[in-house]
Amino acid sequence: MTLTEKDSQYLWHPYTQHKTAQTPIAISRGEGVLLWDENGKEYIDAIASWWVNPFGHSNKFIADAIYKQLTTLEHVLFGGFTHEPAIKVAERLMEILPKNQQKIFFSDNGSTAVEVAIKVALQYFFNKNEKRTTIIAFENAFHGDTFAAMAASGISFYTQAFQGMFIDVVRIPVPVKGKEQESFDALKNVIEKHNCAGFIFEPLVQGAAGMVMYEPEALAKLIQICKTSKVLTIADEVMTGFGKTGKTFAMDYVSEEPDMICLSKALTGGTIPMAITTFTQEVFDAFYDDDINKALFHGHTFTANPTGCAAALASMDLLQTDEMQANIQRINKSHLVFQKKIEKHSKVITARTLGVIFAVEIKSDSAESYYGSMRNKLYNFFIEKGAILRPVGNIVYILPPYIMTDDQLQKVYSIIEEAIEMV
Ligand SMILES: *Cc1c(COP(=O)(O)O)cnc(C)c1O
Repeated sequence: MTLTEKDSQYLWHPYTQHKTAQTPIAISRGEGVLLWDENGKEYIDAIASWWVNPFGHSNKFIADAIYKQLTTLEHVLFGGFTHEPAIKVAERLMEILPKNQQKIFFSDNGSTAVEVAIKVALQYFFNKNEKRTTIIAFENAFHGDTFAAMAASGISFYTQAFQGMFIDVVRIPVPVKGKEQESFDALKNVIEKHNCAGFIFEPLVQGAAGMVMYEPEALAKLIQICKTSKVLTIADEVMTGFGKTGKTFAMDYVSEEPDMICLSKALTGGTIPMAITTFTQEVFDAFYDDDINKALFHGHTFTANPTGCAAALASMDLLQTDEMQANIQRINKSHLVFQKKIEKHSKVITARTLGVIFAVEIKSDSAESYYGSMRNKLYNFFIEKGAILRPVGNIVYILPPYIMTDDQLQKVYSIIEEAIEMV
């Protein structure tokens, strides 16, 4: 049996209707921005394998750090014990996070990072004997697939089977250009009408919605509104963190600081699943008490896994090199040139860029759904051409590893141009 035949016998894939899905491609090797399937066909990974891989596949520097940690202390429980890798990750993050972030909590993936933040927001008010149970989130947000994260997410594909079983979430419009006031007014209205504990948002770019972008000034204003009413703010930087927006964190563009930040995806350079939720001292202090019931009773078996921490440290080393910072700026400039060229195309509605993130919306005759026919046509065209790009409806985006060369970028651009001609 081939790998794909065995796969279909045993495996259940994420976001996949197995009855109608195409067979998956078996990848056997990765190096830099390239992947090879079992037949030797080469693919360029233009979306950094779901946004996790800034420094390329099979990165030797991170692999060495992982190996060294695996042969020193691979794992130890974090309940009642601590270790240097976790402490070093905390110290490194304190240097680069917004200044008000003082405490870090480890978990395993983006969804759990969000789950922790939402639970902390709710328990913060419980501990203070205040009844606040509503979470505010943006329309079309994506915060993950565990229950609270899913409740905060607004993309129906992911949530429709579970309606009526969620914590209270109220949605406000994203403050995209021209809709800022509507968003501010909606937030004020929600805060007035509900007992709001927290506001969770993807700062500046909504990834899964199709790289929907909005301005830092608008986000600052929304955070100010929350602060006046003591609503906790949660920046979900799971996608935007670690350089994607051109700064280390998207919140670095924003004049207001959030109460909590969620990190995962690029944290370990795309190697080991790990996530972190960070907090202000003030949030932490609401749990600091003689009463054990006020503690945060949340944890995961692999919390602060030392091997993951070693990968995160190596990954932050790479991110902070001048070379990597120059790569990020180079990709950004390149995207802006391509954007200028492509946005005039008669089949293009709009194109946008922030940092290494580029997105183009293609005109479509029918209303395009998330996993609709245009999306599938585009996806298959890209795969045939050897480019891994996963369009969201009629939106094609690029989120490359930062080491993608100019030639490779040009190749991805021309494949996208061909695709636009084709549809
Ligand atoms: C991917 C993502 C998540 C969920 O992360 P997982 O590791 O897939 O659980 C949460 N928030 C945002 C903004 C994301 O992009």
